[in-house]
Amino acid sequence: MADIPYKIYLTEDEMPREWYNLRADMINKPAPLLNPDTHQPMTAADLEPVFCSELIKQELDNDTAYIKIPDEVYNFYKMYRPSPLVRAYCLEKELGTPAKIYYKFEGNNTSGSHKLNSAIAQAYYAKKQGLKGVTTETGAGQWGTALSMACAYLGLDCRVYMVKVSYEQKPFRREVMRTYGANVTPSPSDTTEIGRKILEAHPGTTGSLGCAISEAVEAAVSTPGYRYVLGSVLNQVLLHQSIIGLETEAALKKYDIKPDMVIGCAGGGSNLGGLIAPFMRDKIKGKLDCRIIAVEPASCPSFTRGRFAYDFADTGRVCPLAKMYTLGSDFIPAPNHAGGLRYHGMSTVLSQLYDDGHMEAVSVPQTEVFKAAERFARSEGILPAPESSHAIKVAMDEALKCKETGEEKTIVFGLTGTGYFDLVAYQKYNDGVMDDYVPTDEEIEQSLSKLPVID
Ligand SMILES: *Cc1c(COP(=O)(O)O)cnc(C)c1O
Repeated sequence: MADIPYKIYLTEDEMPREWYNLRADMINKPAPLLNPDTHQPMTAADLEPVFCSELIKQELDNDTAYIKIPDEVYNFYKMYRPSPLVRAYCLEKELGTPAKIYYKFEGNNTSGSHKLNSAIAQAYYAKKQGLKGVTTETGAGQWGTALSMACAYLGLDCRVYMVKVSYEQKPFRREVMRTYGANVTPSPSDTTEIGRKILEAHPGTTGSLGCAISEAVEAAVSTPGYRYVLGSVLNQVLLHQSIIGLETEAALKKYDIKPDMVIGCAGGGSNLGGLIAPFMRDKIKGKLDCRIIAVEPASCPSFTRGRFAYDFADTGRVCPLAKMYTLGSDFIPAPNHAGGLRYHGMSTVLSQLYDDGHMEAVSVPQTEVFKAAERFARSEGILPAPESSHAIKVAMDEALKCKETGEEKTIVFGLTGTGYFDLVAYQKYNDGVMDDYVPTDEEIEQSLSKLPVID
């Protein structure tokens, strides 16, 4: 077999022309979203005021396996895709492992993560519907940045509600968004009814993601020509992110490589759902024997310590109910948690697959994540995003197990982004002031006790 290069690139022509919808091949389909008032499954009509029509179709489509990537989206993808699949020769050497490690690097664009793959798709469908703009929330800012880039490209108005504490403490992403023309509002704000209510009840609050979601949804439904878009968790986002997995599969096929393990970090589940899609398809069909591993922070362990139940998708409880592994919609990771992946729930697709035993999940404490990030940066050169470093940590652990057993396993993991905007977190790690708060069973139980009762 030919020597494997450091980077396996696909040509533009080899880039997949269709997204893959894993739901089509799932035996147990993900449970439907429920209307929070009636507890009936959400219909397209229910979702229409909030989301773009074509995206609603994709959200509710459990049957169509392949969906064509529109030409405009495909052309945008060409600006930063195909992304490289890197053989981590330097990391293998550093670890002294016989394992063969590959990572799919999604950080080669200005927004610095995989989120652009779905941002451009969502912005495209909004534009095609003749809308004027979109609203969204952003925490640390990766999603808001990606969406700003996509909207600038298509000439769409972009309104971002950014959690106030990040708006004030992380001005860099805010300025990237403004450079791309987005309107960035610190949340809670006095521009929405819910924002004013929250400000009145909690003067001086620095905001939360749940509160920013509620503001962004209100802004969308109350402004003609606007819809709300979301960067993770939803089925449509996993669909768009399947480009990651399809490219990975195509690159591996060039060299006849079959992965023994596919590993990814899991926040809302979009990069992981996209990366594993074709491998999970083959695994479900009995064509591939491969472990699939989700990695989450020990401080926000939805898969490993949460419950598989219907829950509110947002703190404000305005969004539909989703059946997922959840820690409860009130759950907020400890303030010292610096590694991202802080959503209380998980994609319904991944939740179902995990519950059916098709994938595993591991949780890791943050200081170990940053230790892995440092080792990776020093050997492979790339400064990884803290989120991505969860996957690095477990890929390294598995490679070290191979060192003990002498097995030459093939490990593929998702390197979802770069860490340039996460230097405050790196600073904490470098200064030795990062600790590993892990929620107690009582804390999780307390938050789970408020799950909605569905009959
Ligand atoms: C947002 C983000 C994640 C987590 O989101 P998922 O939807 O779980 O993929 C992971 N890595 C990076 C770099 C991100 O920006």
